Amino acid sequence: MLRIAGGTVYDPTNGIDGVVKDICIADGRIVSEIQGGRTIDASGMIVFPGGVDVHTHVAGGALNLARGLMPENQRIARKFLHSPTLRSGIGGVTPTTFATGYLYAGMGWTTLNEAAVPVLSAKHTHEELHDTPVVDKSCLLLMANNEIVLDLLEAGELERARHVVAWLIRAAKVYGVKAVNPGGITAWKWGKNVRQLHEPIEGYDRLTAAAIVSGLARIVEDLGLPHPLHLHCNNLGIPGNVTTTLDTLKVLEGRRAHLAHLQFHSYGGDGWSSMRSEAVAIAEAFNSQPNLTADAGAVLFGDAVTITADGPWQHLLYQLTGRKWGNLDVENETGCGIVPYVYKERSLVNAVQWAVGLELLLLVTDPWRIFLTTDHPNGGCFWRYPEIIQLLMDAEYRKEQVKKLPAKARRRIVLSDLDRQYTLSEIAIITSAGPARALGLPQKGHLGVGADADVTIYSQQRDADGFLFGYPRYVLKDGQVVVEEGELRAVTQGREFIVRPSCDDQIEEYLRPLFQRFYTVSFENYPMDIERLERPEIMACS
Ligand SMILES: [Zn+2]
Repeated sequence: MLRIAGGTVYDPTNGIDGVVKDICIADGRIVSEIQGGRTIDASGMIVFPGGVDVHTHVAGGALNLARGLMPENQRIARKFLHSPTLRSGIGGVTPTTFATGYLYAGMGWTTLNEAAVPVLSAKHTHEELHDTPVVDKSCLLLMANNEIVLDLLEAGELERARHVVAWLIRAAKVYGVKAVNPGGITAWKWGKNVRQLHEPIEGYDRLTAAAIVSGLARIVEDLGLPHPLHLHCNNLGIPGNVTTTLDTLKVLEGRRAHLAHLQFHSYGGDGWSSMRSEAVAIAEAFNSQPNLTADAGAVLFGDAVTITADGPWQHLLYQLTGRKWGNLDVENETGCGIVPYVYKERSLVNAVQWAVGLELLLLVTDPWRIFLTTDHPNGGCFWRYPEIIQLLMDAEYRKEQVKKLPAKARRRIVLSDLDRQYTLSEIAIITSAGPARALGLPQKGHLGVGADADVTIYSQQRDADGFLFGYPRYVLKDGQVVVEEGELRAVTQGREFIVRPSCDDQIEEYLRPLFQRFYTVSFENYPMDIERLERPEIMACS
């Protein structure tokens, strides 16, 4: 039993906005009252629900490829990484498993969603998530270039496609469905990409990216998954992609969906030299579609590594930068590309990208629909979130930063015109309450009775780097104090959230011969055993 006494509590889900009150915990959950137990004196401190990362990349084959590709980064460590009592790991922009858990917990984040898992490497991803301590996890299955699913969508066999998707979700032990560059990765196997939403995809007679988006969004709805289709739109990163993104919003009209890293999809201009922000147009369209949520995918200046299933985009980025490049094609399912990247303040393109992420966070009016992410490690490392919080809360500080950008870039953004400052309550929404709601995790993101006792307590003093949210004073996971006075005190094992949508038993008879013909692994060796998950928690489908 534990009482957090006298802290200033921000719990937006329950309408609590800066109220001094006690939070009581028993058996890992928030309860209304306790007698006895430990008391943490939180007077003068800020009490938040633990952070929830709706879109990050921390585990699996792509991450390992990136780690291997960038040995020069591996000696960059952060706090918690050099302790005789903790497990070892590399730091840098792609921390290894144990370090990832320590770093998220050390920042006050207690749940994360690994946003891109191919069925074929689900086992590897789960093994790494198993070794990522403290935080609870979920992961999303890459479906928008799975050739079995695409063939069924082309044939108009939506019902069978639904059963196949359900079977694949069950086989991979995942939580939801992700679509990356719909159709573009399958086209990349012929060196092509998808540029237009409504034109047939390479290798198909009729199937378009638009049909994949609407088909998968409907399948996810029909399966009753807690989290809607999680979509990385076509034409990521390309100047002028605002048109594609607005077209995609039209395709999604009336449906639920989550738009990943919206920043990378909000550019105008017709080339790199004319690239500009289209955050205003995107935010306006997004604001009018209440069925959608998004995460920012904000960019910070400095080191990053771009890791995405979007193989053709990564090849283009390699051509543009001349940096190292890795590519994986994952049989009939998806692809993957890696390019290390440095965002530079003096670069016109990077300056626009930096501004667009912040502009979207400021122009989308409802904080319950846009969440704080950097698409880690694509736009910057997750452990730099406090820098973004500072930029959102302090307009003067933000305008000082804008002044450092090249004059040419400042003419192509609207950031200096935006005076909005996030309140503490709004920060609690975009870092915790909102993503928990969008993920469909009712026990996360709030401090009401019955919630998981994941709590982050910040002192109101700034850290050595000048950030308010740099190092929390205490972090509680399932009611246990895991971080205290800036030190990791306990290493717990998180849960893994999965769904088990129902599917037709006969669907295996349809899939088995396709496997024999097209896959390098046997059908029996394909599914992941649930026994391999340390603490699976099955969330209901509606
Ligand atoms: Zn991503």
